[in-house]
Amino acid sequence: AKAAGKDCAVWYEPELRQRQTERIRVVERLRHSLEREEFVVHYQPIVDLAGARTVAVEALVRWLPPGEAPVRPDLFIPAAEDSGLIVALGEWVLRRACAEAAAWHRAHGVTLTVNVSPRQLADDEFTAKVRRSLADTGLPAAALTLEITEGILVREGVPSAQARAHLEALRGDGVRIAVDDFGTGYSSLAYLRDLPIDVLKIDRSLMPADSDDTRQIALVRTVVDLARSLRLTTVAEGIETPFHAALLHELGCDRGQGYHYARPMPAADFAARQRPAEAA
Ligand code: C2E
Ligand code: CA
Ligand code: CA
Ligand code: CA
Repeated sequence: AKAAGKDCAVWYEPELRQRQTERIRVVERLRHSLEREEFVVHYQPIVDLAGARTVAVEALVRWLPPGEAPVRPDLFIPAAEDSGLIVALGEWVLRRACAEAAAWHRAHGVTLTVNVSPRQLADDEFTAKVRRSLADTGLPAAALTLEITEGILVREGVPSAQARAHLEALRGDGVRIAVDDFGTGYSSLAYLRDLPIDVLKIDRSLMPADSDDTRQIALVRTVVDLARSLRLTTVAEGIETPFHAALLHELGCDRGQGYHYARPMPAADFAARQRPAEAA
């Protein structure tokens, strides 16, 4: 058994080193792409479950390496986070999304929600950068929501003083704070206790398959009730079918997001989609 273990280690090491080398190469390419702005922001509508009207959009970044197909964020966000490049990338996304959404907000009252990495909240300048993006683009603070995940809860589920200070300062300006992917982590309840939040996004893994999925329905019902009792706005992710939309509305969830309504799309497509409403 010992011999096998040793063999295994010998076989494993070069593999690991190769993976690290690949990751470093990805980070170098990301840095280069960021200088050339080879990224684009796509937007996914968030609808009011009572009227199915688009009330907000979530900004979702895509990497566009020249001559290659667009790269999905799950494939490069982790490398950007490990390397710290997410701070500059996140700032670029925020600025671009505020600029594009400002016009939609003026014309249709649509608000913007942007993902924020824990690394961004560890940056001294984060509050100042958000304020500058809002001031430069004319998007009102009250039209912006920042989505955070459990990564900001370090050490026994306590958020860092730095992260909390940024969130409180921005919330004081009228920016709303959302907890993303609720129902996936271990510390999720600690958020609700320790952080100034306004919105709870229910992770799509909690979505029941159909009306026979009674356990899962009980779980989602409980999460919606919990959020409502804390007076949070609830957003259900992964609304893929009419059943999902009807169920979540019946359970009292405020908003929905998912393929049943629309996939993330380029800014021009979102603008074109909103135009008929303007004429009506
Ligand atoms: P997320 O914040 O949970 O975003 C929702 C993801 O679910 C998006 O994937 C979206 O395309 C997908 N989705 C939406 N509706 C449905 C549905 O009905 N069914 C299914 N199966 N999926 C649906 P996407 O765009 O690939 O983004 C993946 C993740 O990458 C995001 O998950 C977020 O954590 C991260 N991400 C994206 N953009 C940014 C960014 O600018 N900054 C940071 N820090 N993270 C980002
Ligand atoms: Ca999100
Ligand atoms: Ca999410
Ligand atoms: Ca997610």
